[in-house]
Amino acid sequence: MNTALPMPVKAFLDRAAADDAPAVRTKAGRVRWSVRLREGLNEQKVQQWCAQASLLDKHRVAEMAGGWMLKEPPYEAKFQRPMFQIAMRIRYGLEVGPAIPYVSVQVCGARKGDGTACGKALDAAGQHALACTCGGHSHHRHDACRDVLGRHLKPLVTSVKFEQFIHELAQPDEDTGETRAARLDLVVQTKVGKALLDVRVFHPLGPDGRKAGKYTLTANEKDKYDRYPTHKDGRRLTNATIVPIVVNTFGAVGEKAQEFFQPLGNARELVDLVSVMGVYGSAEKVLSVHSPAKIPAAPLQAVVRDRAVRAVRHPQQAGAAEPKKRVAKFAALPAKAKAKAKAKTRGK
Ligand SMILES: [Zn+2]
Repeated sequence: MNTALPMPVKAFLDRAAADDAPAVRTKAGRVRWSVRLREGLNEQKVQQWCAQASLLDKHRVAEMAGGWMLKEPPYEAKFQRPMFQIAMRIRYGLEVGPAIPYVSVQVCGARKGDGTACGKALDAAGQHALACTCGGHSHHRHDACRDVLGRHLKPLVTSVKFEQFIHELAQPDEDTGETRAARLDLVVQTKVGKALLDVRVFHPLGPDGRKAGKYTLTANEKDKYDRYPTHKDGRRLTNATIVPIVVNTFGAVGEKAQEFFQPLGNARELVDLVSVMGVYGSAEKVLSVHSPAKIPAAPLQAVVRDRAVRAVRHPQQAGAAEPKKRVAKFAALPAKAKAKAKAKTRGK
């Protein structure tokens, strides 16, 4: 017997006969053999890949969805060109550097709430940039996802409200006298009822690139339910349902979000939209962390990428000479030189 075959023909036939799923049967009840055979081929390929792949690759691939790849990012999000390349590099676990067009810094310059910089070293694969919670980049990614989703939901539901404070869910804190924030991203009124949507974009891998227990879609969904308890002392606080819209940086969308989109008619599109926003938003975050608009006054090391040689620039020497030269290359000729050139042509 050929041992390279995945399973004996009899076992294959028995398994096919036992399965009644609509995907593998025609309406008349015949087995779709091509589907079955392709399944076997895919299983075989997965097994081969699993035998060779590194642990990091396995952990990354486990958290992935690919629906976003063939989708055009929504126009209103105004994503710039390098985003697709960066997103693909993140997907394959490659260095993000080659996709980042200009200057790159080596240390995370995102500002924390108290004004100090994050200061952690940036890794080539962009892991820190994806996971870093300092600064406005995460907020920007979250808000972009919320706005785009809200706008696309509008034609499908009765009403959409953005950034609503839900009084029923606000919990006054006796010690401080303040109310605990209960600001939900989207309040959506559908045919079946009111839903309170809360968006979260997160990175599913720990700092070493491996899977960390708490960073899963379900854990993040549970987080949202814990944060906004809808019952108190056995009594319902609100007649609305909480719906966590959770997406990770690799584009996988949480089950609760998919369930919510299902009756709206355009579920696949909406899931892909959230997926695209998660992936492109994260790529945008990597770009702005690795290539900030403003390089901090005294960077430890900055790498100039537009030359073949990666020259390490020291802050003291770099000051005047280098940037000026580059500007002059594209600037208009000085007036004197122009006059000279003119005189020459006239002479001829
Ligand atoms: Zn950081």
